[in-house]
Amino acid sequence: MKTRTLQALVMFPLFAALAMLGAGCGSQLGPPKGTSKGTGGPGVASSDDDSGWWCVEHGVPEEECSMCSTKMAAEFKKKGDWCKEHDRAESQCFICNPDRSEKFASRYEAKFGKKPPVPDENVRK
Ligand SMILES: [Zn+2]
Ligand SMILES: [Zn+2]
Repeated sequence: MKTRTLQALVMFPLFAALAMLGAGCGSQLGPPKGTSKGTGGPGVASSDDDSGWWCVEHGVPEEECSMCSTKMAAEFKKKGDWCKEHDRAESQCFICNPDRSEKFASRYEAKFGKKPPVPDENVRK
């Protein structure tokens, strides 16, 4: 009886370790699948691509957006290209001149083959 109990005591941690290894493998395979599902959704991925380059709110490329980037804002101010009234680059102020949006929209269209979303923070209301 004593030896059997001992055997059981020795075997149990071994099985437990094996079971944990198995579970470990399983959970290691799990997360990559989960993350690829999270970022790989067709709708989500494509809209991420657009918004990464394009500032949807302001209708200009994100890296040139004088409303989102304080660095760009400073550069536009330095050039004297600044709309004080609306606190954005004059050349990006579609409130003062909606026609300016066409120049940026055509760049979006050239890149994505479709019209950009209508900016909701940079239009005359
Ligand atoms: Zn912006
Ligand atoms: Zn303006």
